[in-house]
Amino acid sequence: MKLTPLEPWIQKKIGSQVGGILRSDLEAYQLEQLRQTIQFARQKSRFYSEHLANAPQDISRLDDLNLFPFTTPDNIRNEGQQLICVSQSDIHRVVTLDTSGTTGKPKRIYFTRADQELTIDFFHHGMSTFTKPGDRVMILLPCERPGSVGDLLAIGLTRLGAIPVRHGPPIDPSEALSVMETQHIDGMVGVPAHILTMARLWNTEHKAGRHTPQQVLLSTDHLPRAIKSALVSIWECTVYDHYGMTEMGLGGGVECQAHRGYHLREADMFFEIIHPDTGEAVAEGAEGEVVFTTLTRSGMPLIRYRTGDISRFIPGQCPCGTSLRALERISRRLNGQIYLAENSGVSYPIGQPALCMADLDEAIFPIPQVLTFSANIIKQENDTYTSKDQLNISLVVVPDVTMDEKENIANRAQKALNAVSAIQIASQSGMMDICIHIQELEANNAGSMAKRVIVDRR
Ligand SMILES: [Zn+2]
Repeated sequence: MKLTPLEPWIQKKIGSQVGGILRSDLEAYQLEQLRQTIQFARQKSRFYSEHLANAPQDISRLDDLNLFPFTTPDNIRNEGQQLICVSQSDIHRVVTLDTSGTTGKPKRIYFTRADQELTIDFFHHGMSTFTKPGDRVMILLPCERPGSVGDLLAIGLTRLGAIPVRHGPPIDPSEALSVMETQHIDGMVGVPAHILTMARLWNTEHKAGRHTPQQVLLSTDHLPRAIKSALVSIWECTVYDHYGMTEMGLGGGVECQAHRGYHLREADMFFEIIHPDTGEAVAEGAEGEVVFTTLTRSGMPLIRYRTGDISRFIPGQCPCGTSLRALERISRRLNGQIYLAENSGVSYPIGQPALCMADLDEAIFPIPQVLTFSANIIKQENDTYTSKDQLNISLVVVPDVTMDEKENIANRAQKALNAVSAIQIASQSGMMDICIHIQELEANNAGSMAKRVIVDRR
């Protein structure tokens, strides 16, 4: 099995000589970069000079970072500009993110040219896990604007000698499949639900075209096990999972050929796992919230940034032979949990049931005719004192299904949803109904870049 290419890359970045990274060398490098980042942020940013006012002046070991306050998404929303550590003219790219926060303000993340170069460098080496020179790689992420994720990925791929095929999100999945076939695509990078839609459509309509990708990298959203296994069985491809968010500089980590969690950009970021309620570090290998500190960014360094993602470091060594750590696949987030039958006055046997998109994904995506789906929850008013929740699931299914098939799909979805424990508790208490809608594939119900969440309309 091939060693993760992140190992020699990081080894070079930290200036370590002998074969293989020694954790002690990496940690000494991280400590020095942390000290510099903290000092730089305090000097250059109005936010950090106040935010870190009561924290120690310096750190002498990595554990001292525990004495520093966290930076949160709300800090970025409310005080974003004050986190910037360079002059406005040095900002080369601003990425504006969702408005789903409590204040409704968007998050803006600022990057210098050097910050973007760090991302390109990671994409170059990370992609070489499964991409060789000459491979044609289709990019199904936004790539039109200079500095967009797809643009930086294309530049990184070119550096490793591969041929990027810039496409963008597959708003029309049939058209994207034609490109895949005519361009003889070897590898593909995109959002899990988008690529599943393409694969299932290919399975019903395009099978005549014999060219399918051998490698697929899924990014941007959590990767449901059901999507991975569907892609592997339809295209007989190898599926890799990438972990990243804009705040990390888009890229965070990528699986190696062992598929045992993400190896991380440990020379560019220092990762911690903390207990989300107490803020204390959890025991090595225990689950908690992922927190990171940037070690090499200058535009908008982030110190102890809370991601809201729940994961853990997998104990033991990766079979690929690296001494880099492996972060377990992210399966859930702290927010995005929907509490069912809220304020209904009903007390549940084991606490109030919470549901997230990942639960629905694992229930619904195994149904082979489903291309994608969306979910929302509404309050169903009735004439009694209580009101019920209604969970609406809109399934987008393969073309030309008969009425009978539609009924079968709806029944199967109903059964799968009833087996989700939170739904089971809420429906058994009579506080929630499920309503399943079936739609045909149309322009624009397949290629949205918005993160898939249960929309709460109550
Ligand atoms: Zn590995």
